[in-house]
Amino acid sequence: MNMPGGAPQTLRPFLWRAEHLYPETEIVSRTAGGIERYDYAAYADRVAQLANALDEAGVEEGDRVGTVCWNDHWHFETYFAVPNRGSQLHTINPLLPDHHLQYIVENAEDRVLFVDATLLEAVEAAYDPEAFESVEQFVVTGDRVPHTDLEPVVDYESFVEGHPATYDWPDLDEDQPAGMCYTSGTTGKPKGVEYTHQMLWSHTMATLTPQGVPAADDDVVMPVVPMFHVNAWGFPFSMTAAGSKHVYPGPSPDPADLAGLIEQEGVTLTAGVPTVWLGLMEHCKEHEVDLSSLERVVVGGSAAPEAMIRWFDEHDVELLHAWGMTEMSPIGSVAHLKSDLQDADEGTKLDKRTKQGLMVPGLEFRVIDENGEEVEWNSAERRSADSRAAEPRDDGEDFGELWVRGPWVTQEYYRRPEANEADFEDGWLKTGDIVTVDEDGYLKIVDRAKDVIKSGGEWISSVELENAIMAHDGVAEATVIGVPHDRWQERPVAFVVPTDEADRPTVEDEVLAMVREEFPDWWVPDDVMYVDEIPKTATGKFDKKVLREEYDDESLVEGKVPEEAAPEDD
Ligand code: ADP
Repeated sequence: MNMPGGAPQTLRPFLWRAEHLYPETEIVSRTAGGIERYDYAAYADRVAQLANALDEAGVEEGDRVGTVCWNDHWHFETYFAVPNRGSQLHTINPLLPDHHLQYIVENAEDRVLFVDATLLEAVEAAYDPEAFESVEQFVVTGDRVPHTDLEPVVDYESFVEGHPATYDWPDLDEDQPAGMCYTSGTTGKPKGVEYTHQMLWSHTMATLTPQGVPAADDDVVMPVVPMFHVNAWGFPFSMTAAGSKHVYPGPSPDPADLAGLIEQEGVTLTAGVPTVWLGLMEHCKEHEVDLSSLERVVVGGSAAPEAMIRWFDEHDVELLHAWGMTEMSPIGSVAHLKSDLQDADEGTKLDKRTKQGLMVPGLEFRVIDENGEEVEWNSAERRSADSRAAEPRDDGEDFGELWVRGPWVTQEYYRRPEANEADFEDGWLKTGDIVTVDEDGYLKIVDRAKDVIKSGGEWISSVELENAIMAHDGVAEATVIGVPHDRWQERPVAFVVPTDEADRPTVEDEVLAMVREEFPDWWVPDDVMYVDEIPKTATGKFDKKVLREEYDDESLVEGKVPEEAAPEDD
């Protein structure tokens, strides 16, 4: 639908602006072969070439193009080429179990799949002719194809070579899907979220406000959050709209790679999950790293620890704590300090900044309690004259589930009516996050109603693990919860009631071996605890809340997670 404003809200003007206003601004990409570097003028040419190549490959308007790629310039080229020509960019998380990858490709019906050379093995392992039936072409990013069984296959540079560097970008409807990303659901089956041009446009504009996570034309921005994670939180779009210099850290960047790029490229703004920054902090203890160019770091996906905020403060870097969801394109709130809090004492300021923060402009929220009643989120203020210091009562009255609505919040999952019924109501997205809201409007996540574990920024489905464990003969009942963990934020721990006490010595090993076969290493529970009974709710369901309260202790899993048992760089 074209708006009275004269043009629909699409991604096209963002590319147009960068190409014409900042033709010489750089895009830097760390690849397996070294650093690649070009400018927006060259980028626009390559984007047009890629769009032409996709025409020749027969990809039509509305078709999906999948990517299994890291953060690099090839992936960034797909970000504008695919949506601007009217097709849909579907970014795929390579860290998922094989059966999730199969489900996702089959469900999205991707016609072309771009695959990073280092991720070929993951795609080969998940390859299933039926699930991948829609895929007519694999394109390996780079200039050569390593040995692979996938076919037909071509390298990226050959795919685009010889195509014209101009493209007659069509006038698109702003409601047309531009992107797509799957999120892990409580039932285990991933849920697809489609992003229309209008959603990505409005998300870009909101994140560029001072209340968002703004990039400017003098910024050098390095998104560490993977581009398969909700478009790297939208940064590739907002950086382009703003004319910032891009720095992409490439395949599996370790803390030394990130530190090197910050120093060499003069990174001013970066973004990623807490695990990434814990790694950088450790690295800086042992090595001399010059962080002087860095001004802001956006931390989200899991809660930013207070010690991390302080560490960045000490290095003169502002940590912006952000909260969001795949369903929200993804940014929802950012913990900026309100102007009237600038003079507050340091303790108060730190308290605000460790919260998930203030909704960005364009969104509305409400907090709904267990009885479906709206929680009065500023009730702390009414209760107490000394409202700044007042904490919400701890009797549960001030807690509730966060519901959100806005122009970049999805209204539904792709082809999942039963999930839609559970997660949406009257235009509101029910986030599954349990929150309090203080007298200044700052949100704080205090619990999670959804039955998933987030480890190093990646989801683990506790329900899927439970089903696998309960399939073992020696297990009468089992449940899996996330236990707080210093480095990974959460790790899974299984609680098992053995069928026969005498089996105890063997059950743990067998159960873990079974899980290891079916799931990636980093899904394997760090511990199996034997219990006489799993606590139940009044309706007979496993009461994980009781277990979580009882095992809210890092020492339970501290030191037990092998380095390789977690996602590499998220
Ligand atoms: P993302 O890619 O942004 O992590 P997901 O959809 O995978 O998006 O995860 C969203 C969920 O992650 C939220 O509902 C919440 O449970 C958790 N989350 C995101 N940001 C934060 C944060 N800053 N603090 C605590 N939890 C967070």
